[in-house]
Amino acid sequence: MKIAALSDYMHDANVLLVRCGSVGSMVALHLASAGVRHLTLVDKDNVESSNLRRHLATSHHVGQSKVSAVAEQLTSRFGRLRVSTEHFCVLSDPARLRQLIVDAAICLVAVDAEGPKYLIDRTAFYLAKPVVYASVYGGGSGVEIILQWQAQDTPCYGCSANAVGRSGVEIEPAEESSSYAVPSDDGSHLAWRDADLTGIMPAATLAASLTRSILEHQGGNPEPVRAFTGDGANMWQLFTQPSGYLPTWRLEPRLVVPLTDCPQCAASLTQQTRTSGNNAYPS
Ligand SMILES: [Zn+2]
Repeated sequence: MKIAALSDYMHDANVLLVRCGSVGSMVALHLASAGVRHLTLVDKDNVESSNLRRHLATSHHVGQSKVSAVAEQLTSRFGRLRVSTEHFCVLSDPARLRQLIVDAAICLVAVDAEGPKYLIDRTAFYLAKPVVYASVYGGGSGVEIILQWQAQDTPCYGCSANAVGRSGVEIEPAEESSSYAVPSDDGSHLAWRDADLTGIMPAATLAASLTRSILEHQGGNPEPVRAFTGDGANMWQLFTQPSGYLPTWRLEPRLVVPLTDCPQCAASLTQQTRTSGNNAYPS
């Protein structure tokens, strides 16, 4: 039996991770444990005690920046890991963000708000850097992973978000909360449910696996990424029952058709794709 070795490329590549919240910190842990040895972490926030239940940080880190907390936790586990920390808001300094994307092999985005995603998407698109977006919703019952990879002619983030019913940028950022309102068991009312790691760990696993496969591709091995994109998919959704005691996940790959009037996608798509694209999305 032939045992494949981790590529040197994956060991050396710089992975940019924007946002070190619950999903971001778990993605960082996954990547470091998989052999990624250079992470650049971006986050504007500090650790609060309410974060600890579903975050890599400990009570020792409360009040410190999330990037330094995650860096400390990871480097104490993985001796060969280099972590660069960037404590700032990407919306406040697009030039700094752009340079970080230039310096990275891939950008992984675990941001809730839509605004930073559009900024990152546009910046990375024209730099031809792949971007993986990871998010959890529905009280942890849903996971969404989106790939924007200009070199592979995927649609942009905006077209992908539009395909699942989101369009444009919300002016007011979503309030950060450690709880969700989810339907009660009989569906008659909403009930508050503490956010836990239910959706966070699958989201982190999926996002980290996709990221690793892209690094393998960049290192010369296109096979792993085909498991994700072989059917043309650029979005992967995971679903489970919010109140299920036995979590059973259903994975649905999704092929997003770019909007015909999207200037960003039109800049790179082939004529054939452009003329066949329309606003009707496969379900
Ligand atoms: Zn587009």
